[in-house]
Amino acid sequence: MTFWPNVVVATPAHSGVGASLSYRSELLLAPGTLVRVPLGKREVLGVVWECSTEPPEGLTEAQTKAVASVLEGLPPLNPRWRQLVKFAAQYYQRSLGEVAMAALPPQLRELSNEQLARRLKRRAKASASAAPEAGATTPGTAANGHDLSDEQHQALAALHSAQAPVLLYGATGSGKTEVYLRATRQVLDTATPEGDSPTQVLVMVPEINLTPQLEARFRERFEPLYGTDAVVCLHSGMTPPQRLSSWLAAHTGAARIVLGTRMAVLASLPGLRLIVVDEEHDPSYKSQEGARYSARDLAVYRAKVETEALAKAAHPSPLLPAGEVEQPRCHVVLGSATPSLESWYAADQGRYVRLAMPGRIGGGALPRLRLVDMNHQPKGAVLAPPLVAAMAERIARGEQCMVLLNRRGYAPVLACHDCGWKSACAHCSAYRVFHKLDRTLRCHHCGFTERVPRACPDCGNLDISPVGRGTEQIEEHLSTLLADVKRPDGSPARVARMDADSTRLKGSLEVQLATMHSGAVDVLVGTQMIAKGHDFRRITLVASVNADSALFASDYRAPERLFALLMQAAGRAGRDAAHSGASEMWVQTWYPQHPLFATLKKHDYPAFAAEQLTEREQAGMPPYGFQALLRADARTQAAAQAFLNGAAQQSLGLPYRDEITLYPAVPLTIQRVANVERAQLLVEAASRGALQRFLSAWQAVLLDCRSLPEARGLIRFAVDVDPLAI
Ligand SMILES: [Zn+2]
Ligand SMILES: [Zn+2]
Repeated sequence: MTFWPNVVVATPAHSGVGASLSYRSELLLAPGTLVRVPLGKREVLGVVWECSTEPPEGLTEAQTKAVASVLEGLPPLNPRWRQLVKFAAQYYQRSLGEVAMAALPPQLRELSNEQLARRLKRRAKASASAAPEAGATTPGTAANGHDLSDEQHQALAALHSAQAPVLLYGATGSGKTEVYLRATRQVLDTATPEGDSPTQVLVMVPEINLTPQLEARFRERFEPLYGTDAVVCLHSGMTPPQRLSSWLAAHTGAARIVLGTRMAVLASLPGLRLIVVDEEHDPSYKSQEGARYSARDLAVYRAKVETEALAKAAHPSPLLPAGEVEQPRCHVVLGSATPSLESWYAADQGRYVRLAMPGRIGGGALPRLRLVDMNHQPKGAVLAPPLVAAMAERIARGEQCMVLLNRRGYAPVLACHDCGWKSACAHCSAYRVFHKLDRTLRCHHCGFTERVPRACPDCGNLDISPVGRGTEQIEEHLSTLLADVKRPDGSPARVARMDADSTRLKGSLEVQLATMHSGAVDVLVGTQMIAKGHDFRRITLVASVNADSALFASDYRAPERLFALLMQAAGRAGRDAAHSGASEMWVQTWYPQHPLFATLKKHDYPAFAAEQLTEREQAGMPPYGFQALLRADARTQAAAQAFLNGAAQQSLGLPYRDEITLYPAVPLTIQRVANVERAQLLVEAASRGALQRFLSAWQAVLLDCRSLPEARGLIRFAVDVDPLAI
């Protein structure tokens, strides 16, 4: 007998190829089965979406190709996963194949059945030898962590009974991770019916550099209970074989806990019962390329899909009164000390359950905010003398300091003061950054790098000098300023730097973190990378050196970001309750009267959020309105804008068009990157539904507009739904 599976394959986002292709098969293939199918001259990986006994309309047997092979030994991807992928593709306006294939490990595409069989065998063997020792699963015998605070207890209990997504609003140092660990334990201890997948937990963090610390804590807690195979990671910093191995472990149910960055939200997890999104406000959860999805928002959707499926499967006995039976759920926890305004608003409205943990573990105080008015500092001072003195004092007491500057390199620009030459990038509308350590000028947008010229390339002046400051310079400057300061043991103070440059080499991040934890470093200078999540126990002073630009940025989200960043950074100080009384957050600013600092001083996020939400409501901005961006890249700015404006003109008459506002096309702030001109057009609507329906109707228009004569030179376009930067 012949069957007719519809197979989803990787198709470019706008290729015009339909959602799935029809093939022929002698076997009835379950939806979700992974197959290899011929496509053009190649053979590609695909996912069976459905399988029919009838040939597709208008196609004869001769016109369809046969499925080449089935990936043996792999259970099909389940309906909830397929629903998630389908939703993500529709919502973010991408092709189903693109999203589905991006969710699978790249190496799966290359393996033959023999190679795959070997991998699976190796996995099974590893799982068998990784099993925990007998008796280790009895509660209490393994590391259970310390006692919970009252707040943690309450949060855990509330989480357990929550009937909606949970927003865990916990101060930095309030012990959110311990709540995640306990909630995970509860889920993993839940027995599942015979034949079902064992329960699984997904824990996401915004950045790769936060995974080692989290992984260590989860391994320590759960390996003795569930075996060395129970915890796996999934992030883009892993090699293709590592990613495949983690994915297989998750897909087959061998891994009980998956820790990862945003890509992990699309992993196949058949027994998923809990999703944790830590630092849920972090912009890194939004993908900036391909399908521009928000992993946080997809996590909320995914938990809903899983919960609905569990409810359907549960069939509570009609003899029991309603409410007597505990319905199984897939919980989702969004954790943050400074939640996104979207999540905060959802909690205000009762769509999310807000759980507050305002206290720090051990009862320590949050650091005191000290604003340094730069108007009153010596002219040209990069670091205010009182700040340097305060740091010297800490070092002498054996405490650590952290200095935050969101700009890597030595100086953002190198300039000639005779003729006005500046270190512009030849390929971008941006300056190349001066890196003193390797004497280069590097473009942080396209990567274009050259040796620093000996003299001004335009006028030959030998006196070219750096303008502005980056982390390298602050590190150098502090080493000089603190040269005479001694640590308690009499040795000189040590300053180190941590940013994308210092952690580029594999393993260097772990080494640097270990150095910081060991206390060998007294002052750590770095970009926002150091402000997030790290649990340095001996830091008692955190300083933000130059945050002013965010106070007046044109992006309406800038204040929210700055507040979150400063709160996060402040949260690094005084994590050890013994030191917390004296811990301080210093902020150098030229605008100490700015209202943002008043709420920051009180650590009053609710007041800040209320203020911001009022402003957003008045302006019809998210979460009160809904937005999308149409972005275009082209050889010329005129072509990019012509495409965008043409697409706007031709949208008249589309469904819901009268509920949509389209703004004129504008160049991006950094207009040209790697010789590509960039422009965007903002789309706004008062309702999410109207925006969604309009966008899907608009797709065909967008494809047509590619061939507008005035848009000649258009390279690509993309729709960004719920954009984070405008
Ligand atoms: Zn010059
Ligand atoms: Zn460049």
